[in-house]
Amino acid sequence: MNQVESDAIIFGAPSIGDEELREVDAVLRSGWLGTGPRVAAFEAQFAQFKALEAAQVAAVNSCTAALHVSMVAAGLERGAEVITTPLTFCATVNAIIHAGLRPVLADVDPISQCISVEAIEAAITSRTQAIIPVHFAGRMCDMPAIMALARKHNLKVIEDCAHAVEADLHDKPAGTFGDFGCFSFYVTKNVTTGEGGMVVGQNQDEINRVRVLALHGLDKDAWHRFGDKGYKHYKVVEAGFKYNMTDIQAAIGIHQLARVKQNWKRRKIIWEQYQNAFSDLEIVTPAEFLPNQTHGLHLYTIRITPAATLLSRDDFLEKMNAVRVGCGVHYVSVAEHPFYQDSFGWKPENYRHSTQIGRETVSLPLSAALTDAQVERVIRSVRDALCGDGRNKK
Ligand SMILES: *Cc1c(COP(=O)(O)O)cnc(C)c1O
Repeated sequence: MNQVESDAIIFGAPSIGDEELREVDAVLRSGWLGTGPRVAAFEAQFAQFKALEAAQVAAVNSCTAALHVSMVAAGLERGAEVITTPLTFCATVNAIIHAGLRPVLADVDPISQCISVEAIEAAITSRTQAIIPVHFAGRMCDMPAIMALARKHNLKVIEDCAHAVEADLHDKPAGTFGDFGCFSFYVTKNVTTGEGGMVVGQNQDEINRVRVLALHGLDKDAWHRFGDKGYKHYKVVEAGFKYNMTDIQAAIGIHQLARVKQNWKRRKIIWEQYQNAFSDLEIVTPAEFLPNQTHGLHLYTIRITPAATLLSRDDFLEKMNAVRVGCGVHYVSVAEHPFYQDSFGWKPENYRHSTQIGRETVSLPLSAALTDAQVERVIRSVRDALCGDGRNKK
């Protein structure tokens, strides 16, 4: 192993430029580290990127927070049921629970790996009040069908857009179909602020309430008290949360967002290299893009099916670990986790597509920061792990 080979490829390592470094330096020197002008600028920039009014977005400190306050602002009744996918990060489900609601799972479509509209329909009861679709890996859910179902049953829709900042369907951006869209700027996401999130809303009263809830429940003018106008009294109008984004985070986000298209193009090249390089292997590669949508290209996932490869997913992960190529698993079905099984009686076999995908899936590095040499190394490592002994070629 030469020097380059021995360096670990870190899964989801962000692409950080000098602009981010200079902007964070400027924030630290400005004396204004809290929620201030850079958060306002980042919100305005994000709104423009999504073709929205600036008043329709609210920056928060994570997507988990975004989901939580959206559900509270949606005015759902305590104990109401919220339908989501088992193939998501636990944060989606935990946010439902913390909003005082009851999560209900609907299985995914095995090809798109997004929540199945038929499964949602089958899960709707008289207690259902909302749906949280997750645009898995950056691929859009069938939003027209989900919105039609929501209108028919009078349900709120909160899109979990953690993977989908660039995604759109018929030129309509992810996060603008439902009542709310929630975005993540966690380190591994396509746009990062270290930790951060954004709520997009369609109803002005609801998005105003999101702002109040995200800042201790202080009245909405309090949001504007950050500035050089001197001290202003505030009023607490409800018991809110501490979910505001800071200018340190926004300083990173401003420049990340400026490079969002450039980074997407880089990931598209890597994606296509993977698709070509693995076409002769006995693994399942991501479904083809649909012509009417822009895929967010957040995760490149393959499925290691033991029946075909004679190798378990975890054996494969071990082989990749050994050559220091960082991989991820998105996700072990939430129905596999003991807390939810104990709390809600969920059984993995009731969500068979999510369960099977969760046991077979591996996410390969897809960061825009990957060099050509690193991409080649990922490809070689995958091929070595699967075909080192000549097996697993179609
Ligand atoms: C990352 C992620 C979240 C949580 O985002 P945070 O910003 O880390 O709170 C929620 N849902 C999905 C699908 C995610 O991938």
